[in-house]
Amino acid sequence: MTAKLIDGSKVALGIREECKTRVEALVARGIVPGLAVIVVGNDPASAVYVRNKLRACANVGVRSFKYDYSADVAPDVVVAKIKELNGRADVHGILVQLPLPPQFQLAQVLNTISAEKDVDGFHLYNVGGLVVGDTVFPPCTPYGVVKLLDYEGISVEGKNVVVVGASNIVGKPMALMLMQREATVCICHAKTRDLAQFTILADILVVAAGKPNLIVPQMVKTGAVVIDVGINRLPDGRLVGDVDFEGVSEKASRITPVPGGVGPMTVTMLLVNTIASAERRLSDRA
Ligand code: NAD
Repeated sequence: MTAKLIDGSKVALGIREECKTRVEALVARGIVPGLAVIVVGNDPASAVYVRNKLRACANVGVRSFKYDYSADVAPDVVVAKIKELNGRADVHGILVQLPLPPQFQLAQVLNTISAEKDVDGFHLYNVGGLVVGDTVFPPCTPYGVVKLLDYEGISVEGKNVVVVGASNIVGKPMALMLMQREATVCICHAKTRDLAQFTILADILVVAAGKPNLIVPQMVKTGAVVIDVGINRLPDGRLVGDVDFEGVSEKASRITPVPGGVGPMTVTMLLVNTIASAERRLSDRA
C-alpha cells in the first residue's frame, strides 16, 4: 500500500480563504480582528514561528500587535501588559510565545490572559473546557489535526486512536478532543513500555513526541491513517517529523508530510480562533 498524502498546506489555504471572507464581514460591521503577540527573549525558532503567525494575520486581514521584551525582563512587566491587553477593545486574541525564560511561572502568565482572548487555548478555563467538550478556544495544533481529519472525510468515531506524546499543548488536548468525538483513545509517552504494542493497534496514529524516526513501519497497522505532528531539525539542516515517512508511506493509507502537514494548520487555527473571538464580540454587542 502506498499512502495518499494529506496535504495540510492545501487545506490550510482553503480555510484561510474562508478567514478572509469572515474578516471582510467583520470589517463591514466596524470590527477589525486583532491579535497581540508577546515575545520574550530572542529564541531563533520562536522568531520564525512568530514571523509566520504575523504574516498569516496580514494575509487574511487580521491586525497584529507585537510586543518584544528582553530575556531578563521582570515577569510583572509582562503580566501588566497582558492585563492592559485584556481590556483593549481592538485586541481579540492574546498570545504569549513559548518557551518563556526561567524567571517566569508559566501558569501565572497563561492564566492572566482573559479566557475570552486566550486564542492559544492554554488558560486553565479553556483546558478544563476540553474535558467537558465545551471550550472557548481549542488549542491550535490539535484543533488543526481535527480539521484535517474532517476535511479528509476521516471519521474518528469508534476508531482506535493512539496519540504518542502527552504534552499539555499537543498530546493531552489531542486525546481529549478525539475522545469527545467518540474515538477509543490510548495515549503514550516517553515512559510507555514497548510503544509498538500500542501503535500497531491504531486505526489513526497521531505522533507528537519530537523524536525523528520514532515511528517505523513495523509499528504501524496496514491501512492506518498517520498524522505526524513532530517538527525536528536534523544536523544536516533538513526538517523532518517523528515518522519514518518513506517507510511508513508503504503501509499507511494516508499520511501527513513534514513540512506541509500539521504545521500550516496550526497557524491557520490561530487565525480561526482570533476571528471567532472578534465575531463573539460582535454578537455580544448586538
Ligand atoms: P514536548 O517535548 O512538550 O512533549 C513531548 C511528548 O512526547 C512528551 O509527552 C514525552 O513523554 C513524549 N515522548 C518523548 N519521547 C518519546 C518516546 N521515545 N516515545 C514515546 N513518547 C515520547 O513536545 P510538544 O510541545 O508536545 O511537541 C512535540 C513535537 O511536536 C515537537 O517535535 C514539536 O516541535 C512539534 N510541534 C509541532 C507543531 C506543529 O504545528 N506541527 C506544534 C507544536 C509542536
